[in-house]
Amino acid sequence: MSNRIDLFHVEVPMTEPFRISSGEVSTKESIVVRLEREGVVGYGEASPMAGGFYSAETPATTLDYMVREAIPAVLEDGTFHPPFAARYVNEREADPFAWAGLEGALWDLEVQERGLSFLDMLGAECKPVESGLAVGIYPDLDGLLEACSRYMTAGYKRLKIKIEPGWDVAPLRAIRDRFGDIPLMVDANAAYAEEHFPVFDEVDDLGLVMIEQPLAKSDLGGHARLQERIDTPICLDESATDADALTRAFDIGACRIVNLKIQRVGGILLSKKLCDLCAAEGIPTWMGTMPELGIGALHALYLAMLPNCAFPTDVEASRRWFVEDIIDPPIEVFEGLIDLPPAHRQRPNVDMNVVDRYTKTAKRFAF
Ligand code: MG
Repeated sequence: MSNRIDLFHVEVPMTEPFRISSGEVSTKESIVVRLEREGVVGYGEASPMAGGFYSAETPATTLDYMVREAIPAVLEDGTFHPPFAARYVNEREADPFAWAGLEGALWDLEVQERGLSFLDMLGAECKPVESGLAVGIYPDLDGLLEACSRYMTAGYKRLKIKIEPGWDVAPLRAIRDRFGDIPLMVDANAAYAEEHFPVFDEVDDLGLVMIEQPLAKSDLGGHARLQERIDTPICLDESATDADALTRAFDIGACRIVNLKIQRVGGILLSKKLCDLCAAEGIPTWMGTMPELGIGALHALYLAMLPNCAFPTDVEASRRWFVEDIIDPPIEVFEGLIDLPPAHRQRPNVDMNVVDRYTKTAKRFAF
């Protein structure tokens, strides 16, 4: 019986470029992990953004880290259980994206070996998940409004637009004028500083559900000062790296909502722990995305079924961003809801034909 870990660095064309305050991508790169052990095959996905503008990690650095450090550590440990990944991330300087990919494959092995599902292991009930539309930064208001109109037909439960200095109040007012009182939020991806606080006084009057990560990742104090100044809840994303960061954020009042991302925190188990920490503090959460291809997206959907995930997820229909997805069937949104197809209820059903079609490079580790 062959025991092995295969890594597939895939690049899937996107249906439109995704632009945020710090950069733009037009293809989706991921590292698909295929872990085969004693006849059972598990899949995971490491999904850093190309260009490294969301975080320091890129597909190339994550792949290199997996080859050099993470896979040798998994093989040396030899338990093939998810808690090993969580411990590794907690105890060392680690690439969380790489570990999210490997840990996802470890979960997939474990659910099959134990005859359970991801939802069983998380203690979550299968239910429809509300999906929110995320729209990037456009060159002009007409382009933004046209994109919003095009995708809102799927009935997404809220609209999130990306903002940056100079592209904030005007697009929000244009959306309010066109679409009225819809649930609306913004994500600044850390593009602002204290000198911009007056902008948020104006944004505060627009009735947003939340403002996501207005300030720098390390600037929890600034977030606390801004939250004291405005009524709109602040949601942390880039800053919400681990339990220490969240505890400090809660202590000083730096946010009222947390966006949980499996990739950013280093896996499903750590995401669940942070979700539990937020619940204990009375802080609602929701599941964000990079966005990932289907494996990572399904993992986020499983977590989105936890009770403390109280806002629509960023997981959208597969075809919203990708010309093709690596899971079968792809994710669909109907009237703003994602109903988990039976094929994905135990675990993601991966289509290796699609993975092969978009693979740039592959690496194999036999053990
Ligand atoms: Mg964000």
